[in-house]
Amino acid sequence: SVPLGLYAGIGKASALGVLVKGGNYLELLKDIDTVVFDKTGTLTKGEFEVVETSNDDLLEIGAYGEYMSNHPIARSIVKAYGKEIDSSRIEDFKEIAGKGLTVVIDHQHYYLGNEKYFKELNLSVLQPEKIGTMVHIACGDQYLGYIVVADVIKESTIPGIQDLKKAHVKQTVMLTGDHSTVANDIATRTGIDQVYSDLLPQDKVSQLENLMSDEHVVAFVGDGINDAPVLARSDIGIAMGGVGSDVAIEAADVVLMSDDITAIAKAIDVSHYTNFILK
Ligand code: ADP
Ligand code: MG
Repeated sequence: SVPLGLYAGIGKASALGVLVKGGNYLELLKDIDTVVFDKTGTLTKGEFEVVETSNDDLLEIGAYGEYMSNHPIARSIVKAYGKEIDSSRIEDFKEIAGKGLTVVIDHQHYYLGNEKYFKELNLSVLQPEKIGTMVHIACGDQYLGYIVVADVIKESTIPGIQDLKKAHVKQTVMLTGDHSTVANDIATRTGIDQVYSDLLPQDKVSQLENLMSDEHVVAFVGDGINDAPVLARSDIGIAMGGVGSDVAIEAADVVLMSDDITAIAKAIDVSHYTNFILK
């Protein structure tokens, strides 16, 4: 096709739903050989549903515990409980990124979170029947059980990964704070090549740095929940414009206006037929 000038290239990308924050990023897009994805809110919709509870009574503690959190996992548990929350019963809420939270409900101390967090608390956990993201619950040093929540893969994820391979991206990678069972399941179903699970926000940055060595040009795609530092550190940070947080949109070099992963390969194409030589 006919080469586009730089500004026409940025305009073309924008017409395809991709906001590119500068000519240097449009130029770099064609050199990307590794695309790294966050899981929740990026490959998946970030809309969880409760699929299993070890004990039905736990939904109330779950909802009270998660009431103060904005995490999509928290919203799904409060919604599944469905009853009004008396917030005067809740004190000392503290969220721990990539792990879970601690909270006092009715003057009793509770812990809610993943297996990694419970290992640190020296609490052993039960395993669920279904595949999903586990929220384990303990009162003091007593393990009470779990709630399993599950998320769905976005419609654009599978075609989006295939299109990247057609656009000669050599490897696709997932970084997630979730457990390996869920992470591996999502990777298999979406065609992601490599998976790193059970990561804290700072582990995501160091894993990205490992991938960036060896002269790879690495893009990171995320929604900003716990991953804004990774967006900022990558060669090209790509944020979700719809579900993405303001910090993500701010930290990113490229914004996908409708959260559609297939737009990344389209932007790489635009980069290939844009003429970057100033005349
Ligand atoms: P991802 O890396 O998949 O985008 P996050 O970094 O947001 O996910 O969270 C990583 C993990 O931390 C979650 O899978 C969950 O196990 C745990 N977690 C985070 N916030 C909460 C919460 N409010 N309640 C329970 N677990 C949580
Ligand atoms: Mg996320």
